[in-house]
Amino acid sequence: MRDTPDEKLDCPVCFLPLPLRLPSDVDTAQKWRCVGCGMQLEAVLVEDCSEEIRDTVRLVREVKFDECELSPPPTAVVEFASTLAESSDRRIAERRALVKTVPVVPVDADFSPIGEPFMAVSRNVSVGGIAILHVVPIAQELLAVRLTKRENETMELVVKVTRTRTVGEFYEISGRFIAKLAV
Ligand SMILES: [Zn+2]
Repeated sequence: MRDTPDEKLDCPVCFLPLPLRLPSDVDTAQKWRCVGCGMQLEAVLVEDCSEEIRDTVRLVREVKFDECELSPPPTAVVEFASTLAESSDRRIAERRALVKTVPVVPVDADFSPIGEPFMAVSRNVSVGGIAILHVVPIAQELLAVRLTKRENETMELVVKVTRTRTVGEFYEISGRFIAKLAV
């Protein structure tokens, strides 16, 4: 019998509800920072929280995105992604904005990098998740991605892969955002 502390925590300092729970004896806790007060605590992420609650913590662990060292995605993927965007009913400016390259770092359950980082092409980004195109399927379930919102403004998030399907000769990997990294 083990205790399953499923109950979500509130920040002990500023009382913000957090998407975290205490670790059980089989979990590995990570270090998180409360956005409200900066307090750091070791806990386990509860993945199915609302956007609002998910946004109250940042993962303290740093994931390195060596964008300069990564080869850009093959031209064929970029062209394919623009073609897909063009076929949908959007204005030209919007279509172009949708085709962006995204650095991806596969991570394990403890959010440590595993596997080779790579550049993919984003197909679709929403508040809740992202779809990326890549030349090969990805074995890992969790991916850290860096999104560029505007010039010089980036956001790093962890994506839980929910579906991989073939689109043309490429792979579309879709997932939902489960946590934000501290940047
Ligand atoms: Zn707090």
